[in-house]
Amino acid sequence: MIEQEVTIFDRIIAGETPCHRVYEDDQVLAFLDIGPLSDGHTLLIPKERARYLHELSDPAAAALGRVLPRLCRAVLAVTGATAYNVIQNNGSAAHQAVFYVHFHIIPKFPNRGLGISWSAGSLDSARATELARKMRAEMGVG
Ligand code: AMP
Repeated sequence: MIEQEVTIFDRIIAGETPCHRVYEDDQVLAFLDIGPLSDGHTLLIPKERARYLHELSDPAAAALGRVLPRLCRAVLAVTGATAYNVIQNNGSAAHQAVFYVHFHIIPKFPNRGLGISWSAGSLDSARATELARKMRAEMGVG
């Protein structure tokens, strides 16, 4: 287990803090966000404790991935939304407030949902080649 401060999500998993539970199995828990950006805003967390996504084990990541599309379908069906964002913040500079890894599923309605400022640059070809080569090496693939 990774050493980390006890968070509100640890308390929810332990049953010490109530939540509006949407889904639970032995590896993950989904519940409604207490401060929704829109109706149906849902959080999905692993039961394996980790602060950030990159700290998760493959089995915990797989468990999240297995449930996420099914959870999105339920959110869409119940709210009537046809668009949504899945966002996952890592680090306070990236708007993470609860240091326990979690995915947000946020339905998008005309005036509700996630607001994004996306200032796209352009991909420099030499830099792209270098980045991709280094990342492949880091991941141990050719
Ligand atoms: P983030 O900024 O990605 O760390 O998001 C943390 C989210 O956790 C916020 O959207 C909060 O509204 C939500 N949150 C905090 N405490 C609770 C709680 N007790 N139950 C449900 N959601 C919570």
